[in-house]
Order: sequence, then structure tokens, then C-alpha cells
Amino acid sequence: MSNLPSHARVVIIGGGAVGASSLYHLAKAGWADCVLLEKNELTAGSTWHAAGNVPTFSSSWSIMNMQRYSASLYRELGTLVDYPMNYHVTGSIRLGHSKERLQEFKRVVGMGRYQGMDLDILTPDEMRSRYPFLETHELTGALYDPYDGDIDPAQLTQALAKGARDLGAKIIRFCPVTGARRENDEWVISTPQGEIRCEYVVNAAGYYAREVGKMFGRDVPMMVMSHQYILFDEIPELAAWSKEAGHKLPLLRDVDSSYYLRQEKYGMNLGPYEKNCRAHWVTPDDPMPEDFSFQLFADDLERLEWYLNDAVERVPILGTAGLSRVINGPIPYAPDGNPLIGPMPGVPNAFEACVFTFGICQAGGAGKVLAEWVTEGQTEWDMWSCDPRRYTDYTDQDYCIAKGMEIYGHEYAMHFPKYYWPAGRGKKLSPIHDRIAALGAQFKPYNGWERAMWYAKPGDDTSEQATQTWGREGPWARRIEEECLAVRDAAGILDLPGFSRFRIKGEGAREWLTGLITGRVPKPGRIGLAYFADDKGRIVTEMSVMAIEEDFFFLITAATAQWHDFEWLQKHRPADAAFTLDDVTANFSCQILTGPRSRDILAEISDADLTKGWLTHQTAQIAGRYCQLVRVSFAGELGWEIHTKVDETAAIFDTVWAAGQKHGLKPFGMEALDSLRIEKGYRAWKGDLSTDYTVLQGGLERFVDWSKPTFKGKAALEREKQQGVSKRFVTLTVEAGECDAPYMSTLWSGGEVVGETTSGNWGYRVGKSIALGMLRADLAVPGQEIEVEIFGERFKAIVQLDQPLWDPSNERLRA
Ligand SMILES: Cc1cc2nc3c(=O)[nH]c(=O)nc-3n(C[C@H](O)[C@H](O)[C@H](O)COP(=O)(O)OP(=O)(O)OC[C@H]3O[C@@H](n4cnc5c(N)ncnc54)[C@H](O)[C@@H]3O)c2cc1C
Repeated sequence: MSNLPSHARVVIIGGGAVGASSLYHLAKAGWADCVLLEKNELTAGSTWHAAGNVPTFSSSWSIMNMQRYSASLYRELGTLVDYPMNYHVTGSIRLGHSKERLQEFKRVVGMGRYQGMDLDILTPDEMRSRYPFLETHELTGALYDPYDGDIDPAQLTQALAKGARDLGAKIIRFCPVTGARRENDEWVISTPQGEIRCEYVVNAAGYYAREVGKMFGRDVPMMVMSHQYILFDEIPELAAWSKEAGHKLPLLRDVDSSYYLRQEKYGMNLGPYEKNCRAHWVTPDDPMPEDFSFQLFADDLERLEWYLNDAVERVPILGTAGLSRVINGPIPYAPDGNPLIGPMPGVPNAFEACVFTFGICQAGGAGKVLAEWVTEGQTEWDMWSCDPRRYTDYTDQDYCIAKGMEIYGHEYAMHFPKYYWPAGRGKKLSPIHDRIAALGAQFKPYNGWERAMWYAKPGDDTSEQATQTWGREGPWARRIEEECLAVRDAAGILDLPGFSRFRIKGEGAREWLTGLITGRVPKPGRIGLAYFADDKGRIVTEMSVMAIEEDFFFLITAATAQWHDFEWLQKHRPADAAFTLDDVTANFSCQILTGPRSRDILAEISDADLTKGWLTHQTAQIAGRYCQLVRVSFAGELGWEIHTKVDETAAIFDTVWAAGQKHGLKPFGMEALDSLRIEKGYRAWKGDLSTDYTVLQGGLERFVDWSKPTFKGKAALEREKQQGVSKRFVTLTVEAGECDAPYMSTLWSGGEVVGETTSGNWGYRVGKSIALGMLRADLAVPGQEIEVEIFGERFKAIVQLDQPLWDPSNERLRA
């Protein structure tokens, strides 16, 4: 007889470490009426054969947060749920071969300190004292992480499962989910044991997530790689040392050579991420099996040879050990290597917690995040780096395979800011792609759309080698400066394909928007910035609202925010609304024409009324083609955005380009735009603007209309206003060295950490290094001197007035 309940509040599909942790955290949040369905035994997917490493290291703030949470949960889980586990905290040594790698480590030490972790940098001598078998040739230093360790993945899963069961949740094994349908606002999940109805469903099916996604009409962006580790026999010297020391060696990660080496009992475990890597189940002659429970791929030692030799040179005792076993298992990859945790795009009451490449060390944190998504519809930490909606419609299988292979082969690579990774490119091209490529554009994708980052001149070094730096200087620096100065002194044009655009039209649209944003909805003919807060008053997103008529608007937002922002609007649109809401991104394109000569250029080619002021828009013609001319400039100069139908982009560009030549018109790219906007203190989405901050902390009070009877987030913001904010957005000028402050650099005052940067860049118009950030409120006073830690070094910084550094009274914008 089936023991499948007929109903549950939440059904989780998949019983690996992540599904079990999700169930545990839901139950802990008081949602005990949840059921996990596993097609085989718990752990049958990737979990059973994982090596079980539990690092905290990440160069991403949110992933580090998630892993830090996991590590601290695992320390106490055995006691919490009364299920003793093998969890060894051995610490780890991450070897660096270059100056840039050490800079990366120092940045991570800073982020770790901010999260309460005491990471450290080691010299070669210090490495040897912690790891006596180590050869230190070619090393510049290392990062020591005392919290790193390893856990038995099966025991971890069972412990989480026990904890969940003890709190009343259910786990049904040998119960594959075979289908899903929506009925009366519920999900009906089919299994061979019968059907179960639920309010919410979670896809935690690991490398089978794509197959499960199809049941919901969702194409999960992922692919599967084969990943191996080699186990070695006991090494007598290691056994002797370990017995005498009374502990294991720290885990060693040679990230520049791309492998880890871990003590396993008195032997070793070597796990490389090979450049010559292998995808699985991606070609017709290698179909994905219906069931791969508790199975492995055949050993493929040839691929590992280089890594083995390198490891033997690094730790020679390894050369004396016999190889005992190879584990070669499936490991899923999303195109950026981060998991998918959050709402399933376009599917109601459905969530994803899948495609984990580091699912053992992330399971704890992922369960917490997933449970928050389900129970509260929002998460404590901003988790955009893992949000499934960061991908949209361009992630076909070719793309996923190309990116998965690229990421796997560079799993430990440094992500330098001027290196635009080459795999999976060219998914979406602007109609003028070839024209701007011919002008020297160096491209990077935004939501699949290739955009110019900077324009190289003949002879400029555009090689990958030239980009391997965290520094400001490089072949791009003079070009970016020239582009910024052209915008300041003459005019620049920037093609912005893929700007996300939503049309809202019909009775009630204005009233609805008024209740959703914190500020005022612009009058017809005008455009304004709008902030969307959640119920805690935190910044969900920022969009430009272009009012065409009283009840007709275009909302314009970042390319990457397309699915995220559209879902926010859809979620809050009343079911009986008389107005329509459509995503019309694909139909339109935008070019920015900005700089003091932009009016002269437009005067020659358009019939527009160019006396219309800042924050207005109008329909006009350029070269006989209709466009919407919008008087705004993210660069902070006189300027217009030219919004057109996609098909008109080329004709408009050609006309503007030809007319602009005698006025000094130059193309400029996203790098210059970022420098220009930071001088204006304009915030960037998911850097300066995120749910980690409230609208008031973000310094956006001028976009709050307190006189409105109600708007989303008002109560929380009113409370915060009364109590006063704990931290506040500031603009800083920094006496920086060769690098500007990257995201999440720590701010110091009087020996204490007092805040963090949210973005940083060089401002070419003001000739200064600038950082935007969040500072303890009592220090957020103009003129206050503090320090910014940039790649481990501290630099003096001064808090600026709450106004743009460039053109503080916006005269150039209003010109
Ligand atoms: C060789 C190797 C070493 C690794 N080492 C580490 C490491 O050291 N540290 C680390 O953090 N990560 C490591 N990983 C990655 C780690 O194994 C995975 O990220 C992790 O196990 C993913 O857990 P999961 O719960 O998301 O998926 P899985 O463990 O794959 O679980 C998914 C579950 O869903 C079930 N399922 C699928 N379809 C259905 C269906 N239709 N109905 C019901 N159930 C279904 C499956 O049977 C499976 O049990 C390693 C991976 C490999 C291959």
C-alpha cells in the first residue's frame, strides 16, 4: 500500500544533500507539512560519491555567506539532530602562484573578516610548518582557511533528513516524480505510488533537474560534466606524521594548477578540474539514462595525468603511493557555475534548488535560502548570484554546454574585470553589431546581448594575457579615458541592445504603480526613476517609468533584470486588473547619445523639439523613422536616449554617426559609462542596489513620497525613518593605488570595520578614484576620513557631500 500522503504544503523532488537540507530548513521554519520524494534511496544522485570538501572560500560575497552558514551548521548539526557524523575541520591551504592570486586571497581575507571569519595569508615557510610534505617552488603565498574541512556527504544528508523527520516532515523513498499539472491553484504531482497535491513544489533533482523542469514547462539552464577524484593507498610517512601530530593535514588546493589534495585516512585524495574536461549526456550517442542512481562513469585517467604529475612535484610523498580507486561521477553545471536557488521562472509556486557543483558545502546555506524563498517570498541575504532568473531565453543547450565546459576547465580561475570570457558568445546581436565591431568594440554579453565595453584602436593589445590584472591600467585605460572625455567635451554614442522594457496599459495602471513604487509616478510626457521596495523596505529593484499617457507606461530596467523585474510586476498585478502588462523587450532597442554637442547633432537630423527639458520624452523622427527621444543621461551630460523599433536601429545609428562626425562624436562603451555614472553617484543594479539594503539606507529618500496613503514597504520604511538608519549610502573619494575598490571592499575607521563598498571605479572627469558604499550612519558625514581596504591594503578615503561629484547641480544635464 502506498504511504504517499494525498496533500502537502510543499513537495520537494530529490533527496540529495540539497533536497534534505531544504526539507530540514522548511520544517525548522515551522512548515512541517512538507514531503520529499526521492526516486531511489536518499543520496543516490551526486551526493553519495562526493568528496565532501566543505570550503568557505569564495570570491562572491553571497556564496561565501552561504558556505559560511553551512560550515557553522555542520559543526553543530550532529548534536542538534542527534545523528553523529564524520566532520573533520582540518583547515586548508590555498596556494598562490602569482601576485594577482595573492591579491585575490587578500580580498577574500577582507570579506571573510567581515563575515566573522579569521582567514590568513601564509608565507612559504608558514605553509611548510603547517604542511611539512609541501614543496614551495613557484609559490608567492597562500591563503589559510581554518574553517575548511570535509564531511561524509551521506551522513550529512541522513542527519538533515533525520532532523526534518523529527520535526514532522516526511520522506518517501523509491518514489520517482513522473509528471506535474496545475489544478485549482495547486500542483498535482504524479508518481507510480499515486498523486500528491501541494501548494508549492521544489525541483531539487540535481543532475536530473532539467528532466524534472520539463514537467513544469521549464528549460533549466544546465549541463552535466564528469568529475573525478583519485584515492591513494596509505602512505607510511603520512600515517606516522598524522599519528604524532594527532590530526590530519590541512586540505591543499593548488588553484593555479587546478586541483585539490586531501588527506583521506592515511592516504590521499586528488581531485582535479581539468582543462581537457569532458561533458556527458550531451550528444545523441551518449543519451542520459533514465536512471543513474548510485552509478559512476568509467575511469578516465588519461585526463588526469598532468595533474597527477604536478601534484607529485608539489607533494612528493604522493609519488610513493599506490592508486586505490577512481571515482568519476556526474556533476551538474549552470552556465556560471553557481547553483539555481529561488523562484522557477514563469512557473507559479514553484522553486528551484538544483544544479549544484559544490552542493555538499553549500547544502546547509542553500536549504536556508530555499526555505526563506518558499515561506516568506524573500531571502535574508541578497541571493541574485544564485537566482534562476539571472538567465533568460538565450540559454539553449549549446550555450549551456560551452559555458559549463569553460567554467569547469577554469573552476579556480580568477575573474579579472577586463576579461570577457569567450565561450557561449554571440547569442544576441544588435543590428549594428558589425558596424561597432569595425570601430574596435570589445564585447561582453548582458543577458545574452553583446554590448561594446570599450573601443580598441589598431595596435592595442586585446589579448587575454593583457587582461590578467586587477589594476586600473591596461590597454583599455587610455581608450576609456578618451571615451569619457569625448562625452564630456563633444558627444558619444552607445548602443544598448536588450534594455528590458515592459508595457503597462489600461485603466488603473497609474493607481497600481503608485501603490507599488516608493515615489511619484511621472505625468504623461515625463520619465522618472522608480524604486520598488519589499515589505521590509529593502530595495527590490529600480526602473525608469516613462509615462506615455495617464494610464500608459513603459518601464525600463537593466538587461539582466528582465525576468526578475517582470515577475515582480506580474506577482503584484491584481488578478482582476483592467490594464495589461507585457514584456516588449524584444521589440525595441536603445542608443544613448550624450555630450554637449548632442543637441547640435540631433538638430540636424530630427524634427524633435530639442528645447524640451530634462526628464521629458517625445516622439520624433530621425531619417524618416519614428523614435522616442528621452531626455536623460546615465553619463550625466546633456543627452537623449533614442528608443526605436529594433529594425530601425541601423538607419538611426548611421544617420547620427554621419551627422556627428563634424561635432566630434565618438563611440563609447559600458566601461566608460560605468566611470561616468559613478561620478554622478548613480547606482548600479545588484551592486549598489540590492535587497541587502533598504531604500533609506540606500540614500534614496528623495524617491519616497511619504504623503501617499500607502505603498509597498511604507510601514517598514516609516519605522526605520523614526529609528534612524544604522548605515547609509555614501560616495567616497579614495587615495587608491593601482586598483580601484572592487565590490565588497571593507571600510575601516579607528581599527574597526564600519562598512563596505558596493562599487568602485576611476572617474576620468574628476580625476579621482571613487567608491560608492554603505557606511555606519554616524560616520556618514561629509569630510569624514576613513580607510578602504583594497586587495589587502588600506587607503585613505573621504566621505563626500550627498550630491554628485561631477556637475553637482545637474546643470550640464539640464543644459
Ligand atoms: C566526483 C565528485 C566529487 C564531488 N566533491 C564535492 C565536494 O567535495 N564538495 C562539494 O561541495 N561538492 C562536491 N561534489 C558536488 C556534489 O556532489 C553535488 O553538488 C551535490 O551532491 C548535489 O546535491 P543535490 O542534492 O543537489 O543533488 P543530488 O545529490 O544529485 O540529488 C538529487 C536527487 O534527486 C533525485 N531525483 C532525480 N530525479 C527525480 C525524480 N524525477 N523524482 C524523484 N527524485 C528524483 C535523484 O535520485 C537524486 O537523489 C562532487 C561531485 C562529484 C561528481
